[in-house]
Amino acid sequence: MPRSTVARIDLQALRRNYLAACSRAGGAQVMAVVKADGYGHGIGPVAAALDGLAPKFAVACLEEALAIRDAGLQQSVVLLQGVHAGGDLADCEQGGFEPVLHSVQQVEWLERSGKRPAFWLKVNSGMNRLGFHPVDLPSVVARLQAMGVDHELLGFVTHFACADDPDSTMTAEQTSVFERATAPFEGRMKSVGNSAAHFLPDQPLYDWSRPGIMLYGGSPMVGKTGPELGLAPVMSLEAPLISTRVVPAGESVGYGGSWVADRNTRMGMVAIGYGDGYPRHAGTNTPAAINGRRIRLIGRVSMDMLAVDLTAAPEAREGDSVELWGQTVGVDEVAACAGTISYELLTGITARVRRQYR
Ligand SMILES: *Cc1c(COP(=O)(O)O)cnc(C)c1O
Repeated sequence: MPRSTVARIDLQALRRNYLAACSRAGGAQVMAVVKADGYGHGIGPVAAALDGLAPKFAVACLEEALAIRDAGLQQSVVLLQGVHAGGDLADCEQGGFEPVLHSVQQVEWLERSGKRPAFWLKVNSGMNRLGFHPVDLPSVVARLQAMGVDHELLGFVTHFACADDPDSTMTAEQTSVFERATAPFEGRMKSVGNSAAHFLPDQPLYDWSRPGIMLYGGSPMVGKTGPELGLAPVMSLEAPLISTRVVPAGESVGYGGSWVADRNTRMGMVAIGYGDGYPRHAGTNTPAAINGRRIRLIGRVSMDMLAVDLTAAPEAREGDSVELWGQTVGVDEVAACAGTISYELLTGITARVRRQYR
């Protein structure tokens, strides 16, 4: 029998969240970002669940695009990092993958390969990770036109650094830099808009938006949870209670003896740990739930298990299922307790945890 530690994936919730993104996208079409194994939910089942809804997918790299084809899906797939070798352009042309070219090196690969995939150009509007500076854009486009790939150049992409913070002025600044940079190339498509941009009033999303985390029910906005933004949790991470005991006042639990009982405390051990991707930084008082009741972690998370205080759930028995995050405890809450974001928790669930689809 497999261990009952499991990530239950609600594909109906995923579809609802995709439709929520569409309703917030203005006139833009919505490509579903399914990189990092569908944010830890399984790229094949996630993409298949969006078949018939999402006209386009976006991933980081070629391997992920191929995984979408392996799932039997034919939608075009944007490669957000472009290609990592010139030879990959042949796979793009053949596979219907649209690399986002962000460097002179990648343009040279395109020139030398003789391959003609449809592609995008990345504009650096201020995030300063990847992309062509607006000053250099006209010469890059001219070079591409001279190469005869005018028709394959679909349009321009940029990415926001601070869209998670509605008080930041940076998104508006990046938007205007992007508009000015692309204005000479009227008629090409434009794509901006991670999940957060869908929650900024009056933010233009142009032709294609690119939501990721919101599809999975995680919050893209600082200080807000997914459910507060109207998003449905998609992953419910569950593990069985495998032992219970009363720890006498004054005794400690787990590595380092970091938590000491201040009174006799009924506690339990749960079969999940950082070896499953549960964050070790989640300390005492991080919430979990059992039978719909909220409980709390105590002591340090180990590789294969963690401890919970069962005071608030006196009926809890060995074999009961503990929810680490899901409907009762939001993944954003756990992330906050671990000093990180839901993205890292969801993508960090390891292969040891079974994914079960509903
Ligand atoms: C990952 C990514 C997205 C999606 O971001 P979320 O914050 O998860 O919505 C969009 N665009 C690019 C370029 C990305 O790398």
